[in-house]
Amino acid sequence: MTATRREFLRYATGAGVGTALGGLAGLGLTLAPARAKAQALRIKDSKTVPSICPFCSVGCATLIHVKDGEIINIEGDPRSPHNEGTLCPKGAAIYQLHRNPNRPTKVLHRKPGARDWEVVELGWAMDRVAELIKKTRDETFVERMPDGKLVNMTTSIFALGGATLDNEFNHVAQKFCRGLGIVAIENQARI
Ligand code: SF4
Repeated sequence: MTATRREFLRYATGAGVGTALGGLAGLGLTLAPARAKAQALRIKDSKTVPSICPFCSVGCATLIHVKDGEIINIEGDPRSPHNEGTLCPKGAAIYQLHRNPNRPTKVLHRKPGARDWEVVELGWAMDRVAELIKKTRDETFVERMPDGKLVNMTTSIFALGGATLDNEFNHVAQKFCRGLGIVAIENQARI
């Protein structure tokens, strides 16, 4: 079937059609064979490892394709009873956790009032973070409420975890934060 450019745009962006692929389906076109072929070529001769998306508690099942020791593709596992091979946009981007040329690989610091970022040593940055946490906690620590109730907390530090942190890290991070008296603890996956 042929379609004019106008028809293509109407179907790809029209109300009730969520995606460009949906629009193509509306025209009676399907990219499934081409997509399947391209995917088959990409993962040809790769080893498939089952895994789980780390981003949220839905825990969608994934298949990781590995070739020559490198991850070359990650997709939903069609055998999974709850995600049935699908992944949400976050999950569909898991590959970029492993391969992403845009990811900064050096520690950057911008001094107060400065316009530019400077590359600094990780050790220096860790010391600086520890120094600021201690200073903030010392300055804001609340031992008791006005009515005398013991609270031992600081409300001036907020801890935000990333969705790719694993259980073990989160366990230690919770203990660390609560040990400091931090009560505002959240995770990026819930925001
Ligand atoms: S982030 Fe998306 S793909 Fe990952 S487990 Fe949650 S719903 Fe599934």
